[in-house]
Amino acid sequence: MMKTEFYIDGRWARPADGATIPVVNPATEEVVHHIPAGSAMDADAAVRAARRAFDEGPWPRLSGAERGAYLRKIAEGIRARLPELARLEVLDNGKPLPEAEWDLADAAGCFDFYAGLAEEMDGQGPEEIALADGRFTAKAVKEPVGVAVGIIPWNYPLLMAAWKVAPALAAGCTMVLKPAETTSLTALELAAIADEAGLPPGVLNVVTGLGTTVGQALIDHPGVDKLAFTGSGPVGSKVMAAAARDIKCVSLELGGKSPFVVFADCDLDKAVEWIMFGIFWNQGQVCSATSRVLVEAPLYDRLLERLIEEARKIRIGDGLADGTLLGPLVNEAQYRKVLAAIDHAREQGATVATGGKAEGFNHGYFVAPTVLTDVPLHSDAWREEIFGPVVCLRPFTDEAEAIRLANDSRYGLAAAVMSGDDAQAERVAAAFRAGIVWINCSQPTFTEAPWGGYKQSGIGRELGRWGLENYLETKQITRLVSDEPW
Ligand code: NAD
Repeated sequence: MMKTEFYIDGRWARPADGATIPVVNPATEEVVHHIPAGSAMDADAAVRAARRAFDEGPWPRLSGAERGAYLRKIAEGIRARLPELARLEVLDNGKPLPEAEWDLADAAGCFDFYAGLAEEMDGQGPEEIALADGRFTAKAVKEPVGVAVGIIPWNYPLLMAAWKVAPALAAGCTMVLKPAETTSLTALELAAIADEAGLPPGVLNVVTGLGTTVGQALIDHPGVDKLAFTGSGPVGSKVMAAAARDIKCVSLELGGKSPFVVFADCDLDKAVEWIMFGIFWNQGQVCSATSRVLVEAPLYDRLLERLIEEARKIRIGDGLADGTLLGPLVNEAQYRKVLAAIDHAREQGATVATGGKAEGFNHGYFVAPTVLTDVPLHSDAWREEIFGPVVCLRPFTDEAEAIRLANDSRYGLAAAVMSGDDAQAERVAAAFRAGIVWINCSQPTFTEAPWGGYKQSGIGRELGRWGLENYLETKQITRLVSDEPW
């Protein structure tokens, strides 16, 4: 069922120059497929189709309920094909099958949620504005931004696609989606599902290929009104530079080095469980992973011992095998990058308490759950995102020190705190300089709640009603209602 063409203007199309990219199963290192590699010509065709569908097509003029009905059909389509989509996600990304199933259920839920917001838009109408000057009346109306380009990473392939496509389409925008070259299979299936749902041609276009070719051509394209990007900081900078050049709207969801502050009066079992969930879930390839754990000194030794013990019990293997809790990293480049980061941490003075290259695998990109201690504050392991199953552990002596260390980062995506004292947890949550804060847990994510970062972790918010606002403009309409001389 794997696609060999991409989806432009309601049709399946081969890349203009016929190029392809191999799809490698990260658990076996086998090439399982080839996806089309787009060029600037394909990017242009996709943007033109989206432009036509926005300017001439019915899409932005449909009622919210009509757009919502399409989104609900897409949600149903994902659910109907969930088992096969989940297997594709594992082949492409490596994550354990139950995690892939969870992601896909979330992706379907995201389409349903934005269907609901689209329906609500019908009832909202313009907002009347009270003007001090009685000779005029004014109202504010919300309108779609236009043609949006969504560029996404490889860590949650279909879920990240849903976070872009569902709010954009709900708002009345049309979209060109460019999935990560490493994990494009399910984004192409999403196009097939949208096609089956009868989505008008050009409303959703999916073009695959390298970021440096088709991605760059998309962000540079003058026919685009909005760039919505999730990925690394360096590429985020390029997206923002492209937006700055043509004054396009832009939202960025970037990386993080998120702290998790654990006070000594916590339940040890729960703390260890959430620390592991916070960094080992999805092999640690999570933008909001709580990769810096700060533990109040009296609990530190006991917690470290338990964490090492539990981390060693995690079953590593092929994501399709029963009982696997930790799959391979997404590709060879990421695997080498993470192992190099562990070596570099050691060189900079850290101790590898457990982990490193996973033993017993002749092929596949497996890294064992890794715990680093004695990590110097100036070191890269403490300051830079590793994007793998690697956690840094450090003791602190009091609340003020914990907050200072937690906020001492150029990132500000997420932060977590666990304390037996609710008032203390609330105080620390309020003091975090981060867009997403968890109390007594780490990572639970909800479609209804805003998602995005402070500082260099991004600009703007996805999810919830904030995600819809990302794709809306506000128009003022003012009327002269007086015959008095002006
Ligand atoms: P990446 O920045 O390398 O790639 C992301 C996407 O950008 C890919 O589709 C890629 O093809 C494309 N791209 C690359 N160069 C481009 C260019 N010049 N022009 C246009 N597009 C280009 O990131 P990645 O390695 O795929 O993902 C990992 C990063 O994503 C991590 O830093 C992680 O923290 C971040 N991330 C953030 C969030 C969030 O919500 N904040 C979520 C997931 C991942």
